[in-house]
Amino acid sequence: MYDVIIIGGGPAGLTAAIYCARAKLKTLVLDKDESALKRAHRIENYFGIESISGEELLEIGKTQALQFGAEIRQEEVLSIIPSEEGYVVETANNKYEAKAVILAVGAKRSKPEIKNIEKFEGKGISYCAVCDAFFFKNKTVAVLGNSDYAIKEAMELKEHAKKVYILTNGKELNLSPGFQEKAVKFEVITEKVIEVFGKESLEGIRFESGKELRIEGLFIAIDPSSPLTLARKLGLRLENGIIVTDKEQSTGIPGIFACGDCASKEKQLSIAVGEGAKAGLSAIKYVRGIK
Ligand SMILES: Cc1cc2nc3c(=O)[nH]c(=O)nc-3n(C[C@H](O)[C@H](O)[C@H](O)COP(=O)(O)OP(=O)(O)OC[C@H]3O[C@@H](n4cnc5c(N)ncnc54)[C@H](O)[C@@H]3O)c2cc1C
Repeated sequence: MYDVIIIGGGPAGLTAAIYCARAKLKTLVLDKDESALKRAHRIENYFGIESISGEELLEIGKTQALQFGAEIRQEEVLSIIPSEEGYVVETANNKYEAKAVILAVGAKRSKPEIKNIEKFEGKGISYCAVCDAFFFKNKTVAVLGNSDYAIKEAMELKEHAKKVYILTNGKELNLSPGFQEKAVKFEVITEKVIEVFGKESLEGIRFESGKELRIEGLFIAIDPSSPLTLARKLGLRLENGIIVTDKEQSTGIPGIFACGDCASKEKQLSIAVGEGAKAGLSAIKYVRGIK
C-alpha cells in the first residue's frame, strides 16, 4: 500500500513527488511520459534558470524525485476506484493501492490535421503565446483558431510580432461581442490549411487552393480539451475542462488532489510547479491525519 500515488510525471506531478518523498511518504508516480514540458524547445521564464530545454529540466526533476525515494513507473492509469483504505489505481497490467491520489495529468492540446505540424513544434509552431511570443519580435506570424481563445492569443502576439494573421482553417469566426471588436485588428483568412513547410524552421503554410503564406510562427489556438476521463469517472467537478480545486489543491473528494495544467487555467511551468508543491503538502497533511 502506498501513502500517495501521483498520476502524471510532468513538472506538477514530479514536484508533488519530491515533497511527498522528502516527507517520507511511500510515493509512486505513474506516468505515460508525454509531458507538455518535453515539447518545450526552450524555457526562459522559469525563476532562477536563464535558459534550458524542457526535456533537460524534466530529467533533472525525475532524478530529484528518485533521489528522495519516489518510485516512477511508466504506466497509463485507466481508473481510480475508492476502496476501504483509500483508492485502487488500475493500469493495464497492475493494480496499486494508496491512501491519497494526486492527479497531475496535464492538459491535452488539440492538434489539427495539418501535414508536418509535429516536425516544426518548437521550431516555429507553438501552443502558447504567453510562453513564446517573445521569440517572434518583428516577425510575421499567424494564429490558427476561430474562437475567443484565438483572438486572445493574437492580442498577446501583437505586442511583439510585425504582423499577425488569424487562420480559421475553413471555419467561420465564432466570437463573443467583446472579442468581435478586437478581431477587426487582424487580417482573417478562412481557407483550410493543409501543410506547413520550411527547412530548419517554419517558413510558411500551404492552403487547400495551393496558395502559400509566408510566416515564421504559427500558434495553435484550438480550444484545449483535457484528458479528464479519470476526473469525470471519479465525479470531480470540472469547469471548462479544468478540474476545480480549492487553494490547497483539494478536489473536495477526500484524499484526491489535482494540480498543474489539468487544474489550472494558466498552463505555465511555474504554476504547475507551485500547484504541485501545494498538492504534495496537502497530501502529506491528509495521510498523516489518517495515520
Ligand atoms: C511546446 C510547448 C512549449 C511550452 N513552453 C513553455 C514556456 O516557455 N514556459 C512555461 O512556463 N510553460 C511552457 N509550456 C507549458 C508547460 O510545459 C506546462 O504548463 C507544464 O508542462 C504543465 O505541467 P503538468 O505537470 O501539469 O503537465 P504535463 O507536463 O503535461 O505532464 C502531465 C503528465 O501526465 C501524464 N498522464 C496523463 N494522463 C495519464 C494517465 N492516465 N496515466 C499516466 N500518466 C498520465 C502525461 O503523459 C504527462 O507525462 C509549454 C508547453 C508546450 C507544449
